[in-house]
Amino acid sequence: MAIIPINIYGDKILRQKAQPVNQVTDDIIRKIKNMFDSMRNANGVGLAANQIGYRESIFVIDLEGVDGYSKFKPVVMINPKIILSSDEKVLREEGCLSLPHLRADVLRPELIKIRYIDTDEKEIEIEADSFFSRVIQHEYDHLLGKMIPDRVEEEVKKKLTPELTSIMKREIEIDYPITED
Ligand code: ZN
Repeated sequence: MAIIPINIYGDKILRQKAQPVNQVTDDIIRKIKNMFDSMRNANGVGLAANQIGYRESIFVIDLEGVDGYSKFKPVVMINPKIILSSDEKVLREEGCLSLPHLRADVLRPELIKIRYIDTDEKEIEIEADSFFSRVIQHEYDHLLGKMIPDRVEEEVKKKLTPELTSIMKREIEIDYPITED
């Protein structure tokens, strides 16, 4: 088990686009395990590779502890691509392990269709709605170098600025390891 410090808002890698994975090697499997370990240690439901310093296009999601998702099987999405988004959009509160304590309402499509490869390099296509769709879209954003503040109105972002500044300065108390600067 390896718990890797989580990158915090302001860290450059969170702004970089992920690189596609050509082959699911042992090294990739090891990184995926570290992603699950680091996410669970921080009580997160999703984590993208760049949040713990990896450049690959991968995210992991585990909703098992969430109300209504007790049968959820942890999922790894490699080289994901959202291929369809519903016109219907919903506003829902989001948080992020890279934005400790911050919560913001984000407007996103309710339903999406996504294509990705799994750890056996099998191509999978699924539809997701509700909370699962929400988490996928949030993690997918990370792989594009985007975060919650990029997805809210300018006015809302302004209101978040003091909080974002204290996160960047690490004037926060959290019970999971984060990068030093
Ligand atoms: Zn996040």
